[in-house]
Amino acid sequence: MIWKGTINELNHFLGFVNSTMEYLSFTMEHDVQPLNFLDLTILKDENNILQTTVYRKPLSKNTLLQADSNHPPHLIRNIPTGQFLRVRRNCSSTHDFMSQACQLAQRFLQRGYAQEVVKIAWGKVQIISTGTFFRVTRLKDICAEPPIFTFRRARNIRDRLVHSDMKASPPTTWLRNLPVGFYKCGNCAHCSNSTNCKDFSHPRTGKLFPIGSFINCNSTHVIYLLKCPCVLVYIGQTKRQLKILISEHKMAIRTKNTTYAMATHYIEANHGSPASLKFWGIERINIEVAILLRNFFVERHFGFLL
Ligand SMILES: [Zn+2]
Ligand SMILES: [Zn+2]
Repeated sequence: MIWKGTINELNHFLGFVNSTMEYLSFTMEHDVQPLNFLDLTILKDENNILQTTVYRKPLSKNTLLQADSNHPPHLIRNIPTGQFLRVRRNCSSTHDFMSQACQLAQRFLQRGYAQEVVKIAWGKVQIISTGTFFRVTRLKDICAEPPIFTFRRARNIRDRLVHSDMKASPPTTWLRNLPVGFYKCGNCAHCSNSTNCKDFSHPRTGKLFPIGSFINCNSTHVIYLLKCPCVLVYIGQTKRQLKILISEHKMAIRTKNTTYAMATHYIEANHGSPASLKFWGIERINIEVAILLRNFFVERHFGFLL
């Protein structure tokens, strides 16, 4: 913060800030001379313009990564460039940059970096002017309007203290509890030929039958129902995905393939395109039971096909 008043006023301001909150205590460090902040020294030049240069603590040691460290080679290769860039960014004047870069180069050489590597990194950075770092126009294109920052609420005392004693029981199976009925998958070309339903009616008596399990266009081992515009019904079964069967019936209607009963009816009744065909899965076959039944019938030469 740049304080334009007197030091007394500044101390008064600190006292005021500290009196506004009981649980926070502010401290400050101020100077009319150069001020060190993190790795920067901030100073005023003769025109009262703020300038920056690199700050290192007097007791700082040379902790740059050793060149013969077992880190990935590309990482070690790029450290000099990164460090010279930091110096270039932090030094407002070229004179400061040259003096800081010189010290940095010495530190790299002490840590075993090849002279050539240090020279190339320095050279790359030297041609960049400081102003370049502060004239990034790319972000301006991305964020035309000033971006809005939002923060997640931190855990408050309620979150820490209040817990429900009634814990939800863990699921006993990884399977989800799916609702019963037929549901469009919402992701295939045949969903428009169906509706979601929990039951279906007998074509003659009108009696309603509930659908006992979850079925959608992707279900396999399904007994299905096709309905034409004159409300005639065809019942079929498949062990493949229901949507594949529906696509075959629709193709048969389109190509007038009379080996399919529904296609033959569409030709006779002049129903036109398969867009008017409706379908629903009405029962899911229990595969284990179906296999048992098949074996039972095959054994007796009934030729039952699943
Ligand atoms: Zn679907
Ligand atoms: Zn019909």
